[in-house]
Amino acid sequence: LKPISKIAAGVQASTTLAIDSLFKQMKAEGKDVVGFGAGEPDFPTPEHIKQAGIDAIENNFTKYTPAAGLMQLREAASYRLRADFGLEYAPSQIVVASGAKHSVYVALMTLCDPGDEVVIAAPYWVSYSEMVKQAGAVPVIVAAGEAEDFKITAAQLDAAITDRTKVFMLNSPCNPTGMVYTRAELEAIAEVCCRRNVYVIADEIYCNLVYDDIEFVSFASLGEDVKERTILVNGVSKSYAMTGWRIGYTASNPELARVMGNYLSHSTSAPSTISQHAAIVALRGPQEDMQAMKRAFEKRRDHLVGRMNRIAGVSCIKPQGAFYVMMNMKSFIGKSMYGKTIGSAEDFAHLFLEKGLVATVPCTAFAAPGFVRWSYATSLAEIDKGLDRLEQFIQNA
Ligand code: PLP
Repeated sequence: LKPISKIAAGVQASTTLAIDSLFKQMKAEGKDVVGFGAGEPDFPTPEHIKQAGIDAIENNFTKYTPAAGLMQLREAASYRLRADFGLEYAPSQIVVASGAKHSVYVALMTLCDPGDEVVIAAPYWVSYSEMVKQAGAVPVIVAAGEAEDFKITAAQLDAAITDRTKVFMLNSPCNPTGMVYTRAELEAIAEVCCRRNVYVIADEIYCNLVYDDIEFVSFASLGEDVKERTILVNGVSKSYAMTGWRIGYTASNPELARVMGNYLSHSTSAPSTISQHAAIVALRGPQEDMQAMKRAFEKRRDHLVGRMNRIAGVSCIKPQGAFYVMMNMKSFIGKSMYGKTIGSAEDFAHLFLEKGLVATVPCTAFAAPGFVRWSYATSLAEIDKGLDRLEQFIQNA
């Protein structure tokens, strides 16, 4: 057989998959394992949204829609962006795709030629670099450490941009760090992007999950020239506990929106019509359920961060948004635990799952070596169970 595509072959399997499959295998064997790996709300989709999906089926809204999504959904997204951030986008500038991940993918496919560079602010969501490679482009990682609150500076970005740079990938609130860029930080980044003429994919999927009255600033709101070069990515997955419905969207300049629509028309032909109807109700309907989930996440974060910082050997900074905590486990690197030398966060996470029966995500693949990500999209009782086990795991090592 002839070799398969070099681009496809170069895409790596998710490094978190190995630990996830071990977690699932242990669970299937009946072991009492606790999971903190999931990047999705544990809440069910709110009732009124589920009902909209049921109604869509009963009303026979089960046919194809336009490739860029139902006009009512594009209007609903346009309405939300205006109501929440004061952003003006015509519905024709909104393009619906099969989840925010797919929206990022379509944006990269639309913007990048082979050999283009895409600067990624790190720690970053692991799919970004692989999607850049799928587009034939080259990921350029610019990283910030814990001491910088995991946020890169405008000067770092400026230094990473070359003649080949096409796009900067920004994710605030960030997965995996939970950190939120301030208005001043974003203004400095925007100045660099405009001066150096790069597009920005602003993944704002966690925009509604920001705590402590911290301000969330939508990147495109920083000025007309910024808005022109920004592809805003959002969706319903995280805000409305709708991960399985697979609805994401972009807001961009009309030319990009048109090309992304064309791209979709020859690939997915729009997401499920039923999901689109449910998403209209999520975006237009009452927002109280989302607010209640946010308050629950905030409480869990406070509890998890407070307790984790009282456990000897590990620590974390307080994340401001999303539902992830970065546990610093560097004090164990080079040490022996359960007869094994801990060389990395992967080693620690594997051993913690095997011996401690707790699944977490090592962050080496997110350009954050020495950190293990805990998702607190799980109950307070489970969080306590996980932390009790962490204490025992460390004590018994
Ligand atoms: N963007 C970020 C930063 C995420 O963490 C995730 C999900 O984990 C997504 C996008 C994907 O969202 P969706 O489920 O809508 O594809």
